[in-house]
Amino acid sequence: MSIRENLERIKEKIRVKSELVGRDPQEITLVAVTKTVEADRIEEAIAAGVNIIGESRIQEAKEKYRKVESRIIWHLVGHLQRNKAKDAVKIFDLIHSVDSAELAKEIDKQAKKIGKIQKILVEANVSGEESKYGLNPEGVITFLQEVSGLPNIKVEGLMTMAPLYENPEDCRPCFRKLRELIEEVKAKNIKNVEMTYLSMGMSNDFEVAIEEGSNMVRIGRAIFGL
Ligand SMILES: *Cc1c(COP(=O)(O)O)cnc(C)c1O
Repeated sequence: MSIRENLERIKEKIRVKSELVGRDPQEITLVAVTKTVEADRIEEAIAAGVNIIGESRIQEAKEKYRKVESRIIWHLVGHLQRNKAKDAVKIFDLIHSVDSAELAKEIDKQAKKIGKIQKILVEANVSGEESKYGLNPEGVITFLQEVSGLPNIKVEGLMTMAPLYENPEDCRPCFRKLRELIEEVKAKNIKNVEMTYLSMGMSNDFEVAIEEGSNMVRIGRAIFGL
């Protein structure tokens, strides 16, 4: 199937699933994850209606940033090392993977240098898996209290990666926990912190994520067929 057909199919699934749970499909943002995808296929996806692309590695994103000519919004979905923050703020509209105060401070510093307010999400590890990046739920609250005063970052929500289960149904508790965490954060009314985006759901589990309240899905394989 072509990228266009895959994209149509996913949008249809998003529409059907959101309507099934009484949500407006328009409120769900699709990020097409383009890691390992070449620039010409990214252009093809853009022509087929993709508005936002998600990259995973800075080096790869930097190369493609030069090659992709169409105007498009870039998101960073993969882990960010502190020493790459300088490059990240130049490319990405939203960084999904901020998981330490040290990293947030470095992003703030680099964003300040280029006169930008960098939008970020906090990566939470709600599954308790040791190998995953991300802060545990208590860590998220502490993190937000620590970074909310930084003038050149803007926290706009939370992101999580569910463990890779064969049955997407197994991801549900994890997605539910992230949504509960968002409610908990909102109730704390931390200044300068917005909880607009709940970034969760990938190719294999985005429908479950939508049922659990996701409004930003990150989909790679199901679009590009890798
Ligand atoms: C690769 C990746 C995705 C997309 O995963 P698919 O299974 O290809 O849909 C989403 N989020 C992150 C953080 C990723 O690294």
